[in-house]
Amino acid sequence: MRTTTVVVGAGQAGLAMSWWLARLSIDHVVIERGEVANSWKTERWDSLRLLTPNWQSRLPGYGYQGDDPDGFRTMSETVRFIEGYAEVMSAPVRSHSTVTSVRSRDDGYEVLTDQGSWQSETVVLATGACNTPVVPAFAEAVPSSISTLTPLHYRNPEQLEQGGVLVVGASASGIQIADEIHRSGRHVTLAVGEHVRVPRVYRGKDIKWWMDVSGVLDQRYDEVDDIVKARNVPSLQLAGYPDRRTIDLNSLTRIGVKLVGRLAGIKEGKALFSGSLRNVCALADLKMNRLLDTIDEWAAGSGVDTEVGPTHRFESTVVEESPPLLLDLARGRIRTIVWATGFRPDYSWLDIPVLDYKGYVRHDGGLVEAPGMYLLGMPFLRRRKSSLIDGVGDDARDLSAHLASYLRDRSLTSRPAMQLAGG
Ligand SMILES: Cc1cc2nc3c(=O)[nH]c(=O)nc-3n(C[C@H](O)[C@H](O)[C@H](O)COP(=O)(O)OP(=O)(O)OC[C@H]3O[C@@H](n4cnc5c(N)ncnc54)[C@H](O)[C@@H]3O)c2cc1C
Repeated sequence: MRTTTVVVGAGQAGLAMSWWLARLSIDHVVIERGEVANSWKTERWDSLRLLTPNWQSRLPGYGYQGDDPDGFRTMSETVRFIEGYAEVMSAPVRSHSTVTSVRSRDDGYEVLTDQGSWQSETVVLATGACNTPVVPAFAEAVPSSISTLTPLHYRNPEQLEQGGVLVVGASASGIQIADEIHRSGRHVTLAVGEHVRVPRVYRGKDIKWWMDVSGVLDQRYDEVDDIVKARNVPSLQLAGYPDRRTIDLNSLTRIGVKLVGRLAGIKEGKALFSGSLRNVCALADLKMNRLLDTIDEWAAGSGVDTEVGPTHRFESTVVEESPPLLLDLARGRIRTIVWATGFRPDYSWLDIPVLDYKGYVRHDGGLVEAPGMYLLGMPFLRRRKSSLIDGVGDDARDLSAHLASYLRDRSLTSRPAMQLAGG
């Protein structure tokens, strides 16, 4: 089968690209191993709600239409929202078709799937940033008496054995899962490494509203000093609870969660924690206050000051004097470990030499180091908001425009030379 562009993945990124390609009259298919919104359908826990408010789901030609713009969608509402997008644009999705290989050909690419193969001039990689959990190598040393799982397989506390739980990682997934499991009656210890603390609401407005209106989310990849670092910043410590409460280390400590430092290793059945808890918390407090300073400066300069509440600051993170540095996993009360230590993409099916030594696609703002190949949906791909539902549309617009000009140039250079009269 032949088409001009194969888009791999029918999440919001693949669909946003499909919307722009249709506007540019570029023939394409969107190949999906599951169904539209597969990741939201199959890889999220039951109680999860988006941490971005409903209004912040602006996809090209599509957005939130309901009467609760400040609410946070459940997973079934999120799936419905993305499915609705595919339906209104009649996206050419080929579902239940797994891409098993993408190879170069003289005239473009060959995309092999378990349902047949495609030839195309261009390929868009939109398979998501969170295909595989990142788990430290020392996880192998966890005693066999302890069950382990990751947020991709965690669904609810009922699936866990009775007994204590060690949650490793205190970014968005880790703190939400720690909160839920502790409230289910199990004692939770939370291992805290580098994290990004933000309040849910500041001066009466949602933090995402502030980041949106002040332009923080629009910051471009070629404007930041250290893009490698910016692309590796952990997710915000934030949750979309219906009561809009802030979840942070203080709120977890208040309900009885025990904080320990970053899990540095496991030796002879014992978990070893770094002594840096105090420092990482102080750094997160400092960075949060810097963000709030930026917001206050922007509010004063833009005249928004008079429409919002007064400036204030939040209580520093409370850390006990000497948090434990060691936990006996073999003999203690921990029965389960949840590795909330991040995710990574999986390109094991990509047979083109564009991966760096860590297995990530080398690219410049989504232009992959292979002609006619594009990447979408990665953290800070072109903008700070690139990996969000609300951000991928702008990246898809930029990259579809590049793709269209690539096709134009290609058709010009491949046209047979004009015969001069009498030549
Ligand atoms: C726990 C969690 C919470 C999040 N919360 C928010 C939030 O509140 N707000 C927000 O804006 N963002 C949030 N995100 C970030 C982001 O919006 C999601 O990760 C989103 O799913 C990314 O969309 P995507 O289209 O880039 O990738 P995905 O949704 O992962 O879509 C990629 C698609 O590619 C398919 N695929 C993969 N490999 C293949 C293959 N070989 N062949 C065929 N198909 C393939 C997958 O099945 C999938 O459907 C969250 C992410 C996570 C992990």
